[in-house]
Amino acid sequence: MTVPSNLSEDAELYKILCGELGRQRRKLELIASENFVSPAVLEAAGGVFTNKYAEGYPSRRYYGGCEHADELENLAQHRARKLFGAEHANVQPHSGSGANMAAYLALVKPGDTIMGMGLSHGGHLTHGSHVSFSGRWFKSVFYGVRRDTELIDYDQVYEVAEREKPKIIVAGASSYPRIIDFQKFREIADRFGARLVVDMAHFAGLVAAGFYPSPVPLADVVTSTTHKTLRGPRGGLIVCKKMHGKAVDEQVFPGLQGGPLMHVVAAKAAAFGEALEPEFIDYQRQVLSNCQRLAGRLTDAGYRLVSGGTDTHLLLIDLRPAGITGETAEKALDLAGITANKNSIPFEKEHFTVTSGLRLGTPALTSRGLNESDMDEVGGFIIEALHHVGDEGKLKKIGFRVEEFLQRFPLYPGLA
Ligand code: PLP
Repeated sequence: MTVPSNLSEDAELYKILCGELGRQRRKLELIASENFVSPAVLEAAGGVFTNKYAEGYPSRRYYGGCEHADELENLAQHRARKLFGAEHANVQPHSGSGANMAAYLALVKPGDTIMGMGLSHGGHLTHGSHVSFSGRWFKSVFYGVRRDTELIDYDQVYEVAEREKPKIIVAGASSYPRIIDFQKFREIADRFGARLVVDMAHFAGLVAAGFYPSPVPLADVVTSTTHKTLRGPRGGLIVCKKMHGKAVDEQVFPGLQGGPLMHVVAAKAAAFGEALEPEFIDYQRQVLSNCQRLAGRLTDAGYRLVSGGTDTHLLLIDLRPAGITGETAEKALDLAGITANKNSIPFEKEHFTVTSGLRLGTPALTSRGLNESDMDEVGGFIIEALHHVGDEGKLKKIGFRVEEFLQRFPLYPGLA
């Protein structure tokens, strides 16, 4: 498959697509929530299912011509259940946010109380933030991490649950570098009569490969994105106990969505198929090993990592001792050909558009074929760039070296 041969007639659009492909090839991709999908996933996402309406579920559609859509969705569901050892899977959510919306509405009513991890402590917007549906439709209360260890404060989870009696407790995070104790969350949820929703968006790939404890046996409903460590197309996924399956399905369609994006479901099926192969375990092992190595390189250079390190695919640098903000660091790295994102750190004092932290993740570079010794070089580029914040000329020179370094790791060589 070569991208844009048909699109080359549309010069304006073609130029943008080629520009993005070039950017992905030239820059070090360290955004923890991104990845590079396989050519097979890319092909499935760009395939003919983009033409098909398939409102409903297999054998219960509101449109004709769904025989292959049924086969496809059954296959995707089957692979998702197998991958996570789940009783029920819904592969239709258009996004992780939509999956969370459906999960909450399947279990409780608008106006009920939900409890999630605070945004600056590592939680996601959809875990109760007032700017998202989750904080507008529900009364939201929060837990966070301990000031001394920067690990989840399970005593606080207990206390807030006891005081507020949330109907749902959400475990899961976007920038928490450590393993979450789902058993403790289950016990607290049971103690106060709450449902437990686990949002495994970030670490779903690690769960699938057995490197992160599975929340599936413990949670009532587990939500995910499919595009992060799981290395599938952009989209959402819900797996749950059979007893919640009907309610979840009804919330996804017709509750929140119309026709499923069947081309994306095809790409999800492709990605789940890949994740069921033994190579996926090797891949996730390498993701973790690369992250450990990067963490070590940065720590040796004097950088402080939130919680002192990482057990996962991501790490969070506290930039305060270095005297720079997340915003400044993100811009400097970008000039040096390194893509990452500023991130709030626990007990953050800066505005969320500025922040004191930088989040880095290894899923994408690992997909590109980088190993531990390459991560030493990557760490070197990051450290050098952070030392030269404000020196545009020097940063751009680092960017040229990054580009040269990345030529050793061809990305989508089959594309234009
Ligand atoms: N849940 C978590 C933990 C996330 O980190 C994210 C995205 O970053 C989402 C949900 C939302 O996913 P989406 O961007 O697909 O809506």
